[in-house]
Amino acid sequence: MPADHAFLSPSSLIRWYFCPPSARLCDQFPDQGSVFAAEGTEAHALCEYLLKSALGRPCVDPRPSLQYYTPEMEESASGYVQYILEKVEAHKAAAGLSPSVFVEQRLDLRGYIPESMGTADCVIIAGDTVEIIDFKYGMHRVPATSMQLRIYALGACEVFSALYDLTRVRMAIYQPRLSSVDETEMTVADLYAWARAELAPRARLAFDGAGEFACGDWCRLCRARRSCHALAEYQLEIAKYDFSDPALLSDAEIADVLSRVDDLVAWASDVKDYALREALKGHAYPGFKLVEGRTNRRFTDDAAVAARVESAGRDPWERKLLGVAALEKLLGRKAFADLLSDLVTRPEGKPTLVPVSDKRPELITARQEFTNEKEGI
Ligand code: SF4
Repeated sequence: MPADHAFLSPSSLIRWYFCPPSARLCDQFPDQGSVFAAEGTEAHALCEYLLKSALGRPCVDPRPSLQYYTPEMEESASGYVQYILEKVEAHKAAAGLSPSVFVEQRLDLRGYIPESMGTADCVIIAGDTVEIIDFKYGMHRVPATSMQLRIYALGACEVFSALYDLTRVRMAIYQPRLSSVDETEMTVADLYAWARAELAPRARLAFDGAGEFACGDWCRLCRARRSCHALAEYQLEIAKYDFSDPALLSDAEIADVLSRVDDLVAWASDVKDYALREALKGHAYPGFKLVEGRTNRRFTDDAAVAARVESAGRDPWERKLLGVAALEKLLGRKAFADLLSDLVTRPEGKPTLVPVSDKRPELITARQEFTNEKEGI
């Protein structure tokens, strides 16, 4: 889904839904964009082109102007198109009728979210069912139950209910880089009940700049995160342990630190980056000054260096094989698997502590093995 530019955009729904005042606060900070966002936008442009082409609709090929185009992007977009075509065929087979397929469909959300519009990657209407298919090129897993998809479904119902008698909504997230397709469904009646009871009141609070600040996962993508007092207070709560010797903390205190430390480090590094950018613009922070960073020596002319070393009878070059991820990106997932799958292995990872919700199986430590043996488990 490309970026929506509404004040309460569907793509930032989770943030303003849980932290309504963040919407007005974020408005004060420019959107810096990111490589990942730009890559995602390009992947969507390719999806749109391939899907429209497959459906026999006119569309300009964006590939010549894509900066981040790779075989992996082509393969991901082609897989998405294939997935939709299979859905269309399934509907035809089930009902004997061609469903209506809408690509990059504008959605009207204003009945529930002030001044908000959105764009769905693909909407399929077949009989009494509306299907929303969302392509995600990112590596952060998004479930089909995400509220973002619900509001696309709501927007589609708002647009199409006058023309079709819709009673069911299906939602799917196609996430090729995680080899994941997640699907869910609900009734149109339940969707509207949720929109009236929960979505609209939260959207009103966010639009009015009211409600309470609330920290959570959504802070990671908040433009105000470097200046937000609520987040700073939340992150610094960990300081209550007063840098005690870890051996003196209780298990519950250590678990608390473990659950927060990654976010704290990411936030602190964000604040550092932000302060540097501001300092470069001339802002001064008490007790700090800008200096030139330390650097390493480097050659001024690689070719001249190579020529001199070769003429001295030595080889100055090193040749390195690309890594697994880089080669997969270069070849595309299918070609990579065909060519190299028998030559890829995954070494044992270093033991690491993660929340129990993590999907990886628990490691059995030597002590547990000993206890299990003793207890005959
Ligand atoms: S950083 Fe978090 S708590 Fe602060 S405004 Fe943003 S979403 Fe809300």
